[in-house]
This record gives sequence, structure tokens and C-alpha cells, in this order.
Amino acid sequence: MTINIILLGPPGAGKGTQARKLVEERGMVQLSTGDMLRAAKDSGTEMGNKVAEVMARGELVTDEIVIGLIREKLAEGGKGFIFDGFPRTLGQADALGELLNETGQVLDAVIEMRVDDEALVRRITGRFTCGNCGEVYHDETKPTAKPGVCDVCGSTDLKRRADDNEESLRTRLLEYYKKTSPLIGYYYAKGNLTPVNGLAEIDEVSRQIAEALG
Ligand code: ADP
Ligand code: ADP
Ligand code: ZN
Repeated sequence: MTINIILLGPPGAGKGTQARKLVEERGMVQLSTGDMLRAAKDSGTEMGNKVAEVMARGELVTDEIVIGLIREKLAEGGKGFIFDGFPRTLGQADALGELLNETGQVLDAVIEMRVDDEALVRRITGRFTCGNCGEVYHDETKPTAKPGVCDVCGSTDLKRRADDNEESLRTRLLEYYKKTSPLIGYYYAKGNLTPVNGLAEIDEVSRQIAEALG
């Protein structure tokens, strides 16, 4: 069965961590607009250069850009999509609805990952990722088994994101509450919303998501 879901929550809620587990366990396709934008930035495309400063400040890039990125990927099809970090505005949510409609797909669930703001600061300031395979780690809650070496692929290219600092996080949280949190009401009204306790341990959050997906 193909299912399409959105992981909705503030920066640091655990969206990427859970998306990777769903990819591994269910063969779903992760569509992270944050990852796509960072890839564009690293490859130095015109669009990448345009969004680099906006991302560093922690502001949202334009709807037009992220909708364009998602449109390309949806056409590829797959075993069900996990929208990770998209949509982030009501305009993006409407556009996603239309894109799914056009391609004869439906949205099966919106998982709201609830985490309080204090926990988010700790999540973000302790986050690092493997530059080779993308595995997500945390200094305290999910360290590597061997210091400086990725558990999954053995790479030593572990890095921190340029925008994972307290100042940028403040802006990202404001953007979340102003522009993204209205999506909670939007999807509740559509009958799609399932909240999970994002403060629980990683495996417990996965269990709650699995229960929501049936
Ligand atoms: P986090 O993991 O902290 O939730 P992301 O990796 O999803 O962050 O996003 C990083 C940055 O990329 C955001 O702060 C924003 O600048 C940009 N971005 C990612 N997705 C979107 C989107 N759907 N709409 C607008 N900007 C986005
Ligand atoms: P998002 O994609 O929503 O920004 P991430 O999945 O990157 O969030 O997680 C943010 C940080 O919190 C990472 O360092 C990750 O290892 C850690 N983390 C994720 N889920 C949990 C959890 N349930 N408990 C403790 N730490 C977590
Ligand atoms: Zn790795």
C-alpha cells in the first residue's frame, strides 16, 4: 500500500530522524526541502546562492522555490512520500493539495510532532549529521558509538549545520509560530491530523507514528 504523509513540527522536533526510519523500514521516499535547499546551496546553483543567506538567518525561502522543488520530485513517483519540513506555509499546503490531486495521489496523514521550546534548543544545539550518509546524531541523546565515526557508514565527515545556533534558532522558531503552526488547524479541519509525543524516546516516537499509520 502506498501512503503519503507529512511530518509537521518545529525545528528540532525529530522530523528528519523519524523520516529516515520510515525510509528504512517501509521503503518510503523522504522529501526534505531543507536537504534539497542545502544541496542546491552546496552545488552553487543560482537558486542555491539566492537562498543561502535567507537560510543562514533562519527565515523561510519563498513558496515559489520550494513548491518548484517538490513538483519535480512528485513526478518521479515512488513507494509513498514523507514530506519532511514541507509544507511550512498555508500557500505551500494549498499547492501540495493541488499537486497531489493532479498526480492522482492523496495525503493519508499529517503527523504533528509535539515538543516544547526548551527541549528544541537542546535538540538543535546538540545536533550533528554524517556528511556521507545523512545519519542524524545528538551529543547527548544519540551520540556515535565511536567518537568522530558514523555508526552507519564509518565516515569521519561529521558536521554541524551553519544555522544550528541559538540566534538563528530564535528566528526559525518565530517563523514556525507565525507561518507554519497555522497548518495544525488547517489539517485538523481537514481531518488529517494525528499528534504524537515528540518528547518521548526516538523508538517510542516511531511506535506512535506506526500506530497512527496503521
Ligand atoms: P529543521 O530541520 O531545523 O526543521 P530544515 O532542514 O527543514 O530545518 O530547513 C532549514 C532551512 O531551510 C529553513 O530554516 C528555511 O530557511 C529553509 N526551508 C526548508 N524547508 C522550507 C520550506 N518548506 N519553506 C521555506 N523554507 C524552507
Ligand atoms: P528536525 O528534522 O525536526 O529538525 P532532527 O530529526 O534533525 O529534527 O532532530 C533534531 C536533534 O534531536 C538531532 O540531534 C536528533 O538526534 C535529536 N532527536 C531526534 N529525535 C529525538 C528524540 N525523540 N529524543 C531525543 N533526541 C532526539
Ligand atoms: Zn554515515
